[in-house]
Amino acid sequence: MESANKNNGDVNVVDHMNQHWESMRQFLHSQTTGGWQKCWEEDRTPWDLGHVTPVIQHLVQTDALPKGRILIPGCGRGYDVIAMASSQRNVVGLDLSEAAITKAKKLAASSANANSTTFIVDDFFTWQPNEPFELIFYYTFFCAIDPKTRPAWASRMAELLKPDGELLILMFPISDHVCGPPYKVSVSDYEEVLAPFGFKAISITENEHAIEFRKGYEKLGRWKRTSN
Ligand code: SAH
Repeated sequence: MESANKNNGDVNVVDHMNQHWESMRQFLHSQTTGGWQKCWEEDRTPWDLGHVTPVIQHLVQTDALPKGRILIPGCGRGYDVIAMASSQRNVVGLDLSEAAITKAKKLAASSANANSTTFIVDDFFTWQPNEPFELIFYYTFFCAIDPKTRPAWASRMAELLKPDGELLILMFPISDHVCGPPYKVSVSDYEEVLAPFGFKAISITENEHAIEFRKGYEKLGRWKRTSN
């Protein structure tokens, strides 16, 4: 029988992650509305790395990101918004939770590129920006939305991106065994909903920069639209 440790040889990682996210999942499901806001207000944020996502740091340092308008939906505390912002990149951090955005604004205030950041409290599924984006970066949020809403998620990506825009997705948790946070994902889960909108993966690679605990469970995908 194939063991649960197929990704990184440590079965305890899987067990630990499941336990780690189980209370989170129960909490979110127990809330009729405002679950995310409560998480942020009560500092129940097990997903929060406490620093910029390392692969984003790497892409910024190696100048491997498009310039222009960038959107990070479900930005949480905004580390990646701040890291990507520059004189050539205006980055919008969007989050449903006002508490998260308040924390993100506070963090951004002391950053050198604060002027190139914008934080907005709104729902990714209904928010209407003035202009579409060159790049959308997406992390630990597809796994957070109800799988029934995934086609609507893909439709939003198509609406929010410029026709030649890029979708950069850090896919997590890629595993048959880990079921949080709160839903597991696979590369084909993304493909299934993105393909009808003409998105084609330009590259899908193992995330070598994943934090120790997520190593083997993350893939970095870059997608562009070939047709509409
Ligand atoms: N990407 C951040 C936060 C991940 S947790 C990080 O990796 O640290 C998922 C985030 O998505 C939460 O901050 C939650 O408030 C936000 N969120 C959930 N549903 C949303 C929606 N419909 N629109 C915008 N943000 C949403």
